[in-house]
Amino acid sequence: MNFDLSEEHRMIRDMARSFAREVIAPRAEKMEATGEYPYDIIQQMGELGIMGIPFPEEYGGSGGDWVGTHVCLEEISRGDITLGALLDVTTSVVGQELFVFGTELQKRKWLVPIAQGTAIGAFGLTEHDSGSDAGSVRTTAVLDGDEWVLTGTKQFITNVGLKNASVLLVAAKTGTATQRSVISTFIVPTDVPGFKLGKRYRKMSWNASATHEVILDECRIPKENLLGDPKRGFAQHLSVLETGRISIAAMAVGLAQACLDEALEYAKVRRQFGKPIFEHQAVQFKLADMAVAIELARNQYLKAAWLKDQGRPHTFEAVAAKLFASEMAEKVASDAYQIHGGYGFMEEYPVSRYYKAAKILQIVEGTSEVQRMIIGRHLGKFTV
Ligand SMILES: Cc1cc2nc3c(=O)[nH]c(=O)nc-3n(C[C@H](O)[C@H](O)[C@H](O)COP(=O)(O)OP(=O)(O)OC[C@H]3O[C@@H](n4cnc5c(N)ncnc54)[C@H](O)[C@@H]3O)c2cc1C
Repeated sequence: MNFDLSEEHRMIRDMARSFAREVIAPRAEKMEATGEYPYDIIQQMGELGIMGIPFPEEYGGSGGDWVGTHVCLEEISRGDITLGALLDVTTSVVGQELFVFGTELQKRKWLVPIAQGTAIGAFGLTEHDSGSDAGSVRTTAVLDGDEWVLTGTKQFITNVGLKNASVLLVAAKTGTATQRSVISTFIVPTDVPGFKLGKRYRKMSWNASATHEVILDECRIPKENLLGDPKRGFAQHLSVLETGRISIAAMAVGLAQACLDEALEYAKVRRQFGKPIFEHQAVQFKLADMAVAIELARNQYLKAAWLKDQGRPHTFEAVAAKLFASEMAEKVASDAYQIHGGYGFMEEYPVSRYYKAAKILQIVEGTSEVQRMIIGRHLGKFTV
């Protein structure tokens, strides 16, 4: 057993860490306050090969793997969680779905720009009445000659409404009246007739990440934009969301590490009762617990990513990583805030931003309850 990162993984981590520290982190507060979308940073991420780490070079990628992707994602999220979210959705979910299930033509047309960082992708599963029960989508797709006609409304969609947003992968029902449960996935370019951008949500955090409603109003796309097996669109989505769970875990670790960085630095300079608060054991123990929890979550997402790279089953490991890391991040953010005392409430201290950003990690790409349901199902398969 070898727990060392390879030379290549260390190089990715160091590159992403300096980029996050020097380019992303100094802009994070302003991005959050203004909702400014950092096109220039995304362009640089593309130039550094960050957006396409797990894809082969022939499709615009860097020819790396999923361990490298997630080590990078942790560092980017340590700089700013919204860029982590952008990378997760674009690479782990949309890019992967195009790579695994796309035809050669679809990969050339849609994956290459995503992997090169000149375009970003979005996925549209959630609807008003279809959240955790994701298989209950109502959006429909009907074949009309050489075109599919999509009708429905998707909500909470990340990465749309931006100049570089190229496609939305839409889950829609295609079965006849007696087979309504058949879900297919479609590649919907954001500039086709009938693609309408709904409201941009006002959020308590993650403001630089664009989240919109999308209305598909008899939206017409070419017949060849069906992605993969028409009867297995939902299963396709679930398979890439498994990687999305590892990604949310890596993002949570990045955010929690940023909390620990700030809290540790603060504890060493803030003096009360004649000494740095770091020297009060209650504060030091809190920091020790934070460091332990972060390391355990990091080991778990790396294990899940490593299993994926080996082509081995990793459902339990990915779900455990997502569940543990997202709940850990909320606790670590709260402890970092506590260590800052009243200053933790002030916006000039990054911990106030981290605290607001942590909670949603327990909701996106499957709530904690859904993760526990999957683990329960997994445990149910074993006899004692
Ligand atoms: C910022 C943001 C970005 C997002 N980006 C995207 C995106 O890009 N694409 C996309 O498709 N979606 C996206 N989503 C949607 C996200 O995946 C859903 O919000 C999430 O899956 C939960 O669905 P819901 O909000 O409808 O909650 P609900 O499903 O209504 O759940 C409400 C509560 O009930 C609980 N619950 C539900 N069913 C059960 C059950 N059977 N047993 C126990 N408890 C249960 C849940 O765990 C939760 O606590 C995004 C959401 C947010 C907030």
